[in-house]
Amino acid sequence: MLVVQKYGGTSVKNIERIKKVAEKTIQYKNQGNEMVIVVSAMAGETDRLLSLAHEIARFPDEREADVLISTGEQVTAALLALTLKEMGHDAVSLMADQVKISTDSSFGKARIADIEKDRVISQLKKGKIVIIPGFQGVDEEGNITTLGRGGSDTTAVALAASLNADLCEIYTDVDGVYTTDPNICSKARRLDRISYDEMLEMASLGAKVLQIRCVELAKKYNVPILVKSSYEEGKGTLVCREDRTMMEKVVISGVTYNKNEAKITVSKVPDRPGMAAMIFTALSDVNIPVDIIVQNVSRGSYTDITFTVAKADAKKAYKIMADIVKEIGAESVTMDEDIAKVSIVGVGMRSHSGIASKMFSVLANEGINIEAITTSEIKISCVIEAKYGELAVNVLHRAFGLDKQDVEEESEN
Ligand code: ADP
Ligand code: ASP
Ligand code: MG
Repeated sequence: MLVVQKYGGTSVKNIERIKKVAEKTIQYKNQGNEMVIVVSAMAGETDRLLSLAHEIARFPDEREADVLISTGEQVTAALLALTLKEMGHDAVSLMADQVKISTDSSFGKARIADIEKDRVISQLKKGKIVIIPGFQGVDEEGNITTLGRGGSDTTAVALAASLNADLCEIYTDVDGVYTTDPNICSKARRLDRISYDEMLEMASLGAKVLQIRCVELAKKYNVPILVKSSYEEGKGTLVCREDRTMMEKVVISGVTYNKNEAKITVSKVPDRPGMAAMIFTALSDVNIPVDIIVQNVSRGSYTDITFTVAKADAKKAYKIMADIVKEIGAESVTMDEDIAKVSIVGVGMRSHSGIASKMFSVLANEGINIEAITTSEIKISCVIEAKYGELAVNVLHRAFGLDKQDVEEESEN
């Protein structure tokens, strides 16, 4: 079998952990598999490199920032190759430009356009374990690019697709995808399987266990991903195509939580054609993605428009709106950074009714006010006050029957 494995930052955080990765790789190799290993930077390294750049400039040059932060993965790749060689196994590290992993030129959030697989394959045929740094690519001009935070997941899936791998495993610090972040809710349960669509929603709503782009690629090329822990043995979670058993069994698969957004409201916007277009064109012109949009019913000839953006873009968006308010004769703009977005996700929602009303009642029972709502076919998101975020996750998790049973509770039943 051809196996692609990816090890995240905590799984390679020191030499001891890198030795564990090497041992696991050797175990697979000895079973007759061809191994391609994708590594992240050692835990905390990307943040450390970024903060160095920020000591120099508030907005560091994006090309040079990518040259800097791509080094984290390069270090790990070399350390793992050295460890494997020391253990008597032939290994070779190949950087993105040696492979080559071609991307566009959007520094900091580049997208993979193509992967040349010949060099990887020829090294595998020579019996070598091939180690590739995640997160990095190279653009048409030969500049180093990076794929956005968490991007090593995407490197692994893109390689698995391109090499037509038999297995793609993502090793991290939790033993699979849970019904919600196990670090927020002690009752979170590991899922045996989750569909691409549900995982896509969960990733885009705040579950950082897999990068969104990685799940998009996995779905597009139908690469099943097995998410596992590098710390303990276990079955992990299979992220794969939806099947009938998944749809029938559970209505809600997960609850997510995101506190990285801010809410902006433009009040008393003249209610005439073109106003919303003007507001959102101004934001897209400067590449600010908007998440939730709510336009209220008009009062007379005015309406309020509320939307959310990433906190990192909030101040810029607010300033743009302040200018637009003057231009279109609206009343005012307000910003609230003290919000959280809680969401429930599940393919079963398509065929069940009453899910939204149940979600709203559960929040109301806790005295939590809902400030904005958005839905898709398989998710419902509510914006609430930030201080209620973790409480909301926990009560929704329980209300939708996702809590894991304690051993004592189980024996009572
Ligand atoms: P890595 O460094 O291995 O890429 P990440 O920190 O990016 O790991 O992702 C793993 C983390 O994702 C976990 O430690 C957990 O806190 C978080 N997480 C958020 N939501 C979930 C979820 N639904 N299931 C599992 N982990 C989740
Ligand atoms: N090292 C990068 C990050 O911290 C990429 C990754 O770990 O996936 O975001
Ligand atoms: Mg990650």
